Amino acid sequence: MHAKSLLPTLCRMKTPLIDPFARAITYLRVSVTDRCDFRCVYCMSENMTFLPKKDLLTLEELDRLCSNFIGLGVEKLRITGGEPLVRRGIMTFFDAMSRHLESGALKELTLTTNGSQLEKYADDLYAAGVRRINVSLDTLDDEKFAEITRWGRLPQVIRGIDAAQKAGLRVKINTVALADFNDSELFDLQAWCAERDMDLTFIEVMPMGDIGNEDRITQYWSLKDLRGQLEDRFTVSDLTERTGGPARYIRLEETGQKIGLITPLSHNFCESCNRVRITCTGEIYTCLGQEGHSDLRAPLRASEDDAHLEQAIRAAIGIKPKGHDFDYSRQTVDGQVSRHMSHTGG
Ligand code: SAM
Ligand code: SF4
Repeated sequence: MHAKSLLPTLCRMKTPLIDPFARAITYLRVSVTDRCDFRCVYCMSENMTFLPKKDLLTLEELDRLCSNFIGLGVEKLRITGGEPLVRRGIMTFFDAMSRHLESGALKELTLTTNGSQLEKYADDLYAAGVRRINVSLDTLDDEKFAEITRWGRLPQVIRGIDAAQKAGLRVKINTVALADFNDSELFDLQAWCAERDMDLTFIEVMPMGDIGNEDRITQYWSLKDLRGQLEDRFTVSDLTERTGGPARYIRLEETGQKIGLITPLSHNFCESCNRVRITCTGEIYTCLGQEGHSDLRAPLRASEDDAHLEQAIRAAIGIKPKGHDFDYSRQTVDGQVSRHMSHTGG
């Protein structure tokens, strides 16, 4: 292509989103609902009060918001929640987002789900251009699954994972590491994922939101310890791969399996952070571990012209904090944030 013919395209390109610490924002995580059909003990209390429906962004507003971010350089979009697949009409939104995959502006459209609705939606997700998904699963034991999710049932989720793999979706399992709960299942989970050719990532439990009578400190199982257990059985190599997020990867040389470790507590990960989060009411959180946020719903609703919205997005990115302050090292929960993980989507 001649340099001259590139000019109109270059003129249309907007300045990318760069935060005060020179981190480019290319990854947007959107919580499309705060509701869920499970009540995982580390995530929610049993009696949650959910937002009134009128406070939620409509699917059209979510489309406009995400499309603006994509216009400003976001290349990866993760849909989350609450449970994203319980939001009514959510497949319309996925279908709409697929136009950005087709145009090449968006490189990946994905979701994090508890798997309960995958049997119903796996084929539709694939048709909308989704290729990889994260499914959260903390145990392979029916009774323990019912205990940890309170309302969930394991066979339904397994059927969902089967359907996802059958549809051609690559599945990564996310497991929250919980002391005295799934520490005994480490090798069962690892072997089960290897058998099914699924990646596996462990997450340290984070101090987010009031969870009723559950105790954060006793829930906490450090991934340093988890890694030590893997090292006792396997040759473990560190991988240099980074996704701009909290995960670090190791390989078990004997099986070739890659395992992710998300360690916000025992290892800080903020220096390479490339992401921001939007709640279902249009708040933007530029750091998962801080209370600070800005409102995008008002500028979104104030005018049909996207200039206001773009200005508000840039202002929010302009005050993205350097990092979080979670700390369990003094055997107390320091740096706790008041909102639940389901509010910002994890
Ligand atoms: N409902 C979907 C799911 O469970 O995958 C998506 C939303 S959920 C909030 C996203 C992720 O956050 C899940 O993998 C869940 O296990 C994790 N999560 C929830 N509360 C957490 C906490 N306090 N600490 C660490 N991870 C948490
Ligand atoms: Fe629901 Fe996901 Fe939270 Fe569990 S972790 S209660 S499935 S939002």
